Amino acid sequence: MHQIAFAQGDGIGPEIMDATRRILDAAESPLDWHEIAIGEKVYLSGETSGIDAASWDVLRRCGVFLKAPITTPRGDGYKSLNVTLRKTLGLFANVRPCRSFHPFVPTRHPDLDLVVVRENEEDLYAGIEHQQTDEVVQCLKLITRPGSEKIVRYAFEYARVYGRKKVSCFTKDNIMKLTDGLFLKVFKEIAAEYPDIESDSWIIDIGAARIADTPERFDVVVMPNLYGDIVSDITAQLTGSVGIAGSANIGETFAMFEAIHGSAPDIAGKNIANPSGLLRAAIMMLHHLGEQHTADKIKNAWLCTLENRIYTEDIFQSGQNAERVGTRAFADAVIEQLGNEPKTFRPTRHSSEVKMTIQPYKRRPAREKTLDGVDVFIHWSGKNVDDLAARIATLHPEFKLLMITNRGVKVWPNGFEETFCTDHWRCRFEKTADAISNTDVAQLLSLMAENGVDFIKTEHLYRFDGDRAYSLGQGQ
Ligand code: NAD
Repeated sequence: MHQIAFAQGDGIGPEIMDATRRILDAAESPLDWHEIAIGEKVYLSGETSGIDAASWDVLRRCGVFLKAPITTPRGDGYKSLNVTLRKTLGLFANVRPCRSFHPFVPTRHPDLDLVVVRENEEDLYAGIEHQQTDEVVQCLKLITRPGSEKIVRYAFEYARVYGRKKVSCFTKDNIMKLTDGLFLKVFKEIAAEYPDIESDSWIIDIGAARIADTPERFDVVVMPNLYGDIVSDITAQLTGSVGIAGSANIGETFAMFEAIHGSAPDIAGKNIANPSGLLRAAIMMLHHLGEQHTADKIKNAWLCTLENRIYTEDIFQSGQNAERVGTRAFADAVIEQLGNEPKTFRPTRHSSEVKMTIQPYKRRPAREKTLDGVDVFIHWSGKNVDDLAARIATLHPEFKLLMITNRGVKVWPNGFEETFCTDHWRCRFEKTADAISNTDVAQLLSLMAENGVDFIKTEHLYRFDGDRAYSLGQGQ
């Protein structure tokens, strides 16, 4: 028996969870169910994270969580439970298989069958944001080697274990050469370890456009967090309905499974919600637990139900003896098909050997880090940048002012009058001595403070083993 935690959630959550549990129980899934309370009631009881301490204990004991959608109350002060769960439990991979079920679910892309693997913990979602001047706010985009290696390796392992042929990487490395560049570099390194799997890489904008146009050309796609958030929703919608896709959030020691849709308060309590998204998430959970046979049995029964044209409201198509049913009756129809295999769709048959393994990250030896200079960001509301340059250029003999940029565009020396400037200036100082240290940087800042220069942040210009590790920063 596997111990699993589950939550009924809000809105349509209890209805679709009931339908899903009935199907899993009828298929004799070896599961011990442990209910936890999360969501709206918990939020409104004063728990701003939407989950209490006792529920955390159950989650950590079980290690696997089937979650119905919840309603996050509007207003300040309520934290997204999903983000909290992902970050606290190290759920680094978000896996969303998207497939069309043509001709039984209407779609413009009948051959779509791809899996979006989204990095889940970092990128712009690290949530590190600051206002630095009257006019400028920033959000830090963090891409790490461990994060990139873990997600890319996961995508290739997934492809191998589930018999997929190709993994495609989406980034914007032509613009973000260091951050997205690292993700792509790691992708190429790891692709070389999987010669049996084809690989290619796309700039995210054209890649996303191709998915919208000809999704059948893709198989597994892997990408950083923000791109994955957007592309996975677009892809799910292309299959014809967001009501039928499930997703997995996977970590080294914990996994969470859920439908991709929300709590749908507009149809809650009406017995019309489609339970398929949560059911397909539960099928992914059974795979994760190594219960391939039960997972396949349920998947095939669900495919038979579609082939019999038994539909919930959201995917109902009239004609061809289609039958429109409610949530409960849909679950009954799936239960009736347990043991049968579909005729139009290819039946699902996974070997019982199928099991994903996650290799722990191995840290590499540290590289030699040397300092070339420093970028000092300054809050200044003046107009003539020559005035600013004159104030800071000769403050410290170990540093030469190399350039000043505004929003990444070089405005000094030899700037254009036409360039629009905010009150946020990046001043690049290059070392004039052979070697400089943090003490020199601190002295430069100290001199700025004494001269009334309002510095608001610094970024060090490093080399690692002699390789430049900062952008040239001229808006190129
Ligand atoms: P939603 O996904 O709940 O609903 C969007 C539309 O899709 C609605 O018209 C709804 O009726 C329909 N729909 C969704 N699931 C359906 C299903 N299974 N069967 C039939 N129709 C379905 O999105 P929303 O309305 O933007 O959000 C409602 C609430 O859900 C919000 O409080 C939001 O924060 C929350 N939410 C939770 C999660 C989660 O828990 N993972 C995810 C997204 C949204």
